[in-house]
Amino acid sequence: MNNVVMKFGGTSVADADAIRRLVEIVRGEARRTGAPPVVVVSAMSKVTDAVLRMASEAATGQRETITAGVDELRQRHLTVAEALVPAAQRGPLVEQLEQQISELRAMLTALSILREASPRSLDGVASAGELLSSRVVAGALAASGFDAVWVDARRAIVTDDQYTVAAPLTAETEAALAREVTPHLAAGRLPVLGGYVGATKEGVATTLGRGGSDYSAAIIGAGIDVAEIQIWTDVDGMLTADPRVVDTPRVVSHLSFGEASELAYFGAKVLHPSTILPAVAKDIPVRILNSRKPQVAGTMITATPPRNERPITALACKRNVTVVEVTSTRMLMAHGFLRRLFEVFERYRTAVDVVTTSEVSVSVTIDDNRRIGDIAHDLREFAEVAIEPEMALLCAVGENLRSDPAFAIRMLAGLDGIALRMVSQAASRRNVTVVLRDADVALAMSQLHDAWFAQPETPKPLEAVR
Ligand code: ASP
Ligand code: MG
Repeated sequence: MNNVVMKFGGTSVADADAIRRLVEIVRGEARRTGAPPVVVVSAMSKVTDAVLRMASEAATGQRETITAGVDELRQRHLTVAEALVPAAQRGPLVEQLEQQISELRAMLTALSILREASPRSLDGVASAGELLSSRVVAGALAASGFDAVWVDARRAIVTDDQYTVAAPLTAETEAALAREVTPHLAAGRLPVLGGYVGATKEGVATTLGRGGSDYSAAIIGAGIDVAEIQIWTDVDGMLTADPRVVDTPRVVSHLSFGEASELAYFGAKVLHPSTILPAVAKDIPVRILNSRKPQVAGTMITATPPRNERPITALACKRNVTVVEVTSTRMLMAHGFLRRLFEVFERYRTAVDVVTTSEVSVSVTIDDNRRIGDIAHDLREFAEVAIEPEMALLCAVGENLRSDPAFAIRMLAGLDGIALRMVSQAASRRNVTVVLRDADVALAMSQLHDAWFAQPETPKPLEAVR
């Protein structure tokens, strides 16, 4: 299929101006592909937070906040609808919004009377944000000359009943999409759906977990097998380094799903990679694009690594980690020692990130140091323990590292003069990680970034990379 899925995040549908930009972006894509796209939208920014907050307040019996909160949401959506849809066409849209708003008000009132908010009722409330925003966007597209149709996401995505973190049922969803979405595309109509929302087989509303609109876009794109999935957001894409640490990071134009996953772990997450798995599994490229700069190429993520010459794809760091060094001359190489050691971390539900070992000691890093006192206490029952706070992980990520045996050496040479505490080449061989003092991380990252991303690069226009 020529069709693409275009997903717009909360800030890209936040107000009338944002939705006007959306309309022009959609127009450009429809013209380019010669086929209508499927448009998937988040709730307007902050709406999901607001409705969930109202739900928890309602559940404690606070009824006053419901009226004001719902009135504000109603006003926000109606104001945008008025700005985008001429009065003569607006009637049905306003009626649908009013209907959705009264349902929300009724649900919240029910919660306040029952004084409960089960995951199932929370999903009923949470789905209101996307149901409202998608109505407004469908109305705005129709008013701008598109043959746009609103599709109820609760009829298009079928999930299990794990409310608030529901998982799609693949076969059922494919059948539902074939019924609810594909016929519109075949007839040249442009379907608009709210992301994040689905329903069980019985038709009870569910949500896919916070940030789940990206997941919806991937599920829909994979289900109807589109040519490309576009995630329109408010940043240029994935960056070559953390912008809080390096002054002039660049946009990574193309990365593999594996690279995106490694970077996400370090907090460089424009989107959560697991949410695009359905697309990656079907080898559908996912593009991250900036709705405020639609002419800029952004970042493309594909299942297989891009072919290129660059030594690495990006740098990432995780700051303020703690190194725990465990030394035991007596025990270390005895079998069962590592199990005993890791059991301590497991006991206190603390994840270990990097591990290095020597003949007499094991060093590990942990991100969450809240239980460090207990951990040290239990480890001291069988070993000596040294704790080093204020350390950082600095990591180079790139598929090309696999075929470059000398990379780690060059990376270490590039860090000449900086004290390194641990070095690790991951089993995936897609990353090399060093552990250093947090105070050194900015210098270290800039030094490596300058070495590998030296020539300034102007962002490519989107047209140039098609
Ligand atoms: N509106 C939902 C949230 O805020 C889903 C999304 O925006 O992706 O989590
Ligand atoms: Mg999001």
